[in-house]
Amino acid sequence: MRVRGTVQAVGFRPAVQLLAARLGLAGSVRNDGAGVWIEIEGAPEALTSFCAQLKIDAPPRARIESVEHASIAARGETRFRILPSGELGAGGARAPADLAPCDACLAELDDPNDRRFRHPFINCTDCGPRYSIIRDLPYDRSRTTMDVFLPCPACRREYEDPHSRRFHAEPIACPACGPQLRYLVQGQPPIGGEAALAAAVQKILEGGIVAIKGAGGFLFAVDAQNELQVARLRARKRRPHKPLAVMARDLAWAERLALLDEPARRALTDPARPIVIVPLRPGAPLAPSVAPGLREVGLMLPSTPLHQLLLQDGPAWQVMTSGNRREEPIACDDATALSRLGEIADGFLTHDRAIHTRVDDSVVRVVAGAIQPVRRARGLAPDPIPAEWATTPLLALGGELKSTICLARGGEAFVSQHLGDLGGQAALEFFEETVEKLARLVGARPELVAHDLHPDYRSTRFALDRGLPRIAVQHHHAHVASCLAEHGRFGPAIGVAFDGNGCGPAGEQWGGEFLFADLSGFRRHGHLRPLRLAGGDRAVTEPWRLALSALKDAHLDARRLARIEPARRRAVERLLAADLSSPKTTSAGRWFDAVAALCAVRDEISYEAQAAIELEALAQSGAHEPFPFLLQSAEPFAIDLRPAVRGVLEALDRGVPVGEIAARFYETMAEVVASGCRRVRDATGLELVALSGGCFQSARLTERSCARLRRDGFDVLLHRRVPPTDGGLSLGQAAVAAHQSPNRRSAHVPRHPR
Ligand code: ZN
Ligand code: ZN
Ligand code: FE
Repeated sequence: MRVRGTVQAVGFRPAVQLLAARLGLAGSVRNDGAGVWIEIEGAPEALTSFCAQLKIDAPPRARIESVEHASIAARGETRFRILPSGELGAGGARAPADLAPCDACLAELDDPNDRRFRHPFINCTDCGPRYSIIRDLPYDRSRTTMDVFLPCPACRREYEDPHSRRFHAEPIACPACGPQLRYLVQGQPPIGGEAALAAAVQKILEGGIVAIKGAGGFLFAVDAQNELQVARLRARKRRPHKPLAVMARDLAWAERLALLDEPARRALTDPARPIVIVPLRPGAPLAPSVAPGLREVGLMLPSTPLHQLLLQDGPAWQVMTSGNRREEPIACDDATALSRLGEIADGFLTHDRAIHTRVDDSVVRVVAGAIQPVRRARGLAPDPIPAEWATTPLLALGGELKSTICLARGGEAFVSQHLGDLGGQAALEFFEETVEKLARLVGARPELVAHDLHPDYRSTRFALDRGLPRIAVQHHHAHVASCLAEHGRFGPAIGVAFDGNGCGPAGEQWGGEFLFADLSGFRRHGHLRPLRLAGGDRAVTEPWRLALSALKDAHLDARRLARIEPARRRAVERLLAADLSSPKTTSAGRWFDAVAALCAVRDEISYEAQAAIELEALAQSGAHEPFPFLLQSAEPFAIDLRPAVRGVLEALDRGVPVGEIAARFYETMAEVVASGCRRVRDATGLELVALSGGCFQSARLTERSCARLRRDGFDVLLHRRVPPTDGGLSLGQAAVAAHQSPNRRSAHVPRHPR
């Protein structure tokens, strides 16, 4: 039997052995490069029961995608054995994602009579590190960074005992044989073992910043109630506003900070342990600097046994934020951490189990009643997405910001963990390294490269150097395709891509698009009225320039922006008047920026989409009247938002609270989405809508648009597996390239090497 799916590192082989023993069957099971290979012999009715029972008896973390079987001559086996892994085959094995400690391990961690009482590296076949420590497949201890630790006799016995929870748990460890903690402070001798944990806890309680080695990299920890220390962490990290995540001791402590609904609770306790963005409880006792200006907080529960101990012994709420300097990837080895993070952290809690693959924390939020990824990383990547179009092995390189890559082969698409913005050298190296590592792990030798149309993206330049056939995919087509592909749809659909910025086919700037699209192509039916970026990219970081641009566009008085220094304002007015370095963009994100600045919510930003996020945070709840706008009939149609700008100003003049104006503007954009879709439906008859692009990271915009569209009879697809942002682009590029590839092959199933 050939079993494919998530069947390695989830306790599948022991489950197979127990089932065989129960039915009195003989044979063997082993992992190989394609999944799990089973040979089984015995009475025919027992064999039939075995096949029927296999999926039912599979362990909870296993996901069987297919089982094929064939008859071979009986070998005369008398018992059932787990064999060592076969050699790496044609590819198909899984590098499973890292999993937080399971309940059984947590109970042992807390039990003074257990030999793993307070062992920071406790794990079993249901939990523990995976993707971050796997060097190669098939998944065996010898191919992980645990290979340097020799299991003690007690661990060895559990590893070999089919009735143990740790039967073939590859990273098995205990205090006698496992990795050891170390607490490091520059210029002082290292502290080891329990004392290391105690020293780190002490430092956090004293108000220090400690860098903790987590599953996929270092995180900075400080007491989340200590305003002075949170502010100090922000200053040292040079991150003035972007919200920080908080780790809570357990669900009960999380509930004290935030208003949780059922999907949020499920996400918080999921073995992936993502950061879940949830509404703050009014009056929650958090330092104000954790999420300034926002009514939400990113919460998570302990993601490793080490964090569990840290949260038990130290403050019950700790800020946990990526251990990196601005623009750099998260540090994952001691040497880098000590040299790059020494000015930020007061101490380092580390250990001697190496991280092979760097993985940030994942971030999700509840949108329209279900989870939507914001950042897909630890615990979620690189779980594959079914992709029947993935026949020719191909590599898609994503965009420039929130970068990910995607490798597709054999009916599956593997989207990498979040790789960050490709600005600096270190980020670029992480990107290149991930292309190599992921290709090796999924056994894909790409024959085709997909990339964005933008010639200056570093990912595009990387594609040009591959020496492979290339396909350039338009940015917003890729966004819409990513949404279709994750739902296993081909289209056609009405694709609404509301985004920051992306390159159009003729080099123009797009980002508020209504497309007729399927996985092989698209036609642009409409877009938002373009806004001019006064001063180019500076308009993106200084939304007041967009407010000025919107005022000029609507023939309104620029003196509305009296708070901006007159000389600066006039300089930008001159740029607009002379049409100098003021490129046009149809970006929806820029309209949100313009309105946020018109309402004096934010003139300059320090992180992406900050103005829109803060505008949304102010927006009152409940139903609100949209501002007017015009749908101009042309081909492609344009949606003119100038009436809405006038509406915003009138409301401001009447003294309407900004919270109400914000709510009305979000309602306006939802109405814009619905009326654009109605127009495309009139022209095409399509009823299916896919919402994608960075703007749909906003729960409010997504939920309001979705409600409006459903009321109009549309069928709406929202992102559930990859983010709507550029983090999902690589999947969309892969899907489009697979359909545009000149040498499309029909699907074929690789055979077992035997
Ligand atoms: Zn466990
Ligand atoms: Zn041991
Ligand atoms: Fe985008």
